[in-house]
Amino acid sequence: MRTKNQINLSEDDIVTKWYNILPDLPEPLPPPKDPDEGESRLEMLPKLMINECLKQDASDQRWIDIPEEVQELYAKAGRPRPLFRATKLEEKLNTPAKLYYKSEFYSPTGSHKVNTALAQAYYAKKEGYERLTTETGAGQWGTALAYAASIAGLKCKVFWVRAVHDWKEDRRNLMHFYGAEVHASPSSKTSAGRELLKEDPKHPGSLGIAVSEGLEDAENDEKAVYCLGSVLNHVLTHQTIIGLETQKQFEKIDAYPDIVISCLGGGSNFGGFTIPFLRDAIKGKDIKFIAAQSTAAPNLQGKYEYDFADYAEHTPLLKMYTIGHKTRMDPIWGDGLRYHGCAPILSLLRNKGYIDTIAYPSDEKYVFERARLFLQTEGFLPAPESAYSIACAIDEAVECKRNNEEKIIAFNISGHGFMDMEGYRKVLGM
Ligand SMILES: *Cc1c(COP(=O)(O)O)cnc(C)c1O
Repeated sequence: MRTKNQINLSEDDIVTKWYNILPDLPEPLPPPKDPDEGESRLEMLPKLMINECLKQDASDQRWIDIPEEVQELYAKAGRPRPLFRATKLEEKLNTPAKLYYKSEFYSPTGSHKVNTALAQAYYAKKEGYERLTTETGAGQWGTALAYAASIAGLKCKVFWVRAVHDWKEDRRNLMHFYGAEVHASPSSKTSAGRELLKEDPKHPGSLGIAVSEGLEDAENDEKAVYCLGSVLNHVLTHQTIIGLETQKQFEKIDAYPDIVISCLGGGSNFGGFTIPFLRDAIKGKDIKFIAAQSTAAPNLQGKYEYDFADYAEHTPLLKMYTIGHKTRMDPIWGDGLRYHGCAPILSLLRNKGYIDTIAYPSDEKYVFERARLFLQTEGFLPAPESAYSIACAIDEAVECKRNNEEKIIAFNISGHGFMDMEGYRKVLGM
């Protein structure tokens, strides 16, 4: 019988509930808290953020209904998405391992970020807001929110880390095309931005700084609400649709992965892909989880402690693995992985020993060479961040060859790289 190369679900199989892991964690999640000094950040949040999302952040309900309207938007955005078997890559590596990858690159804007963007825009509209405001690093979140806002009939403003904003011209054009307003961050639009520009008019910016600007923007306009694309519990919960579909797909072929891999910046795609599997691991199933990171921001190797989620300290403190919210990080092409902290849910599970991690060199040669191998065997061009997932999956497959083990390896490709060729070209010298 011919190998099954593509495991598909139909529109009727669309997941109707997100999985909230909070009640199933091995111990309660340390809650966000205020710093000892200054005004209360926690009391500000309901004025700045979507109330339904804040409610979901602290929910003890294991399954959260996906509104029917959002299910429809998921279908329009190409869900469910195929799970592919990487047979050509396996052949090239001559490995006994079986490699499967989830195709989040089948997304209107290019990444998994639309899974939460569509939900957030839907709730924001319902709560009467007229405009969404946000930050973006690699640009994938900004594009996803611009798209979701346009569908919901909302305005959208994006503060984009300058170092990336300046070179990703076409992604910027795409955000404009969706109707969004885009500012390089730090910008002159906020006091946090103006302070930093005074020090350095060409300040490269960071995700932490852009978060501060978005929050300040929402503070100053009651018709605007601040949306976050990663880290927070509700974002990871929305993203579980990726892992829930993947589990159904493995069920269809009567298989279960031994190793589950994705890249990790703030944790939305890693969490979305792995959390349904982590649930099984907490119940005792033997699964290895690996988060692929860059040495530019190896937050999972940092300290497990309370830290701010943004540079200017507008957010509450979150208990997470962090390298420090003021730390300057080397620029990398996979800018989505350049964030100082890891989502609290995943941090707790890492602390309990469920999640392994590897950090690849920040010159990105090693990971991009493996992205090329993937492209030349499987045909799809990954986003630079997803090159890290691929490198890690290949490393594990090579290890299986060394030990002659027929393991099943599942990895997530969270975005396509059609707008990132410059990074590949510069690093690989094309
Ligand atoms: C945002 C993003 C990432 C990393 O961020 P997470 O919060 O860890 O998901 C990785 N890959 C792509 C394509 C992204 O858009």
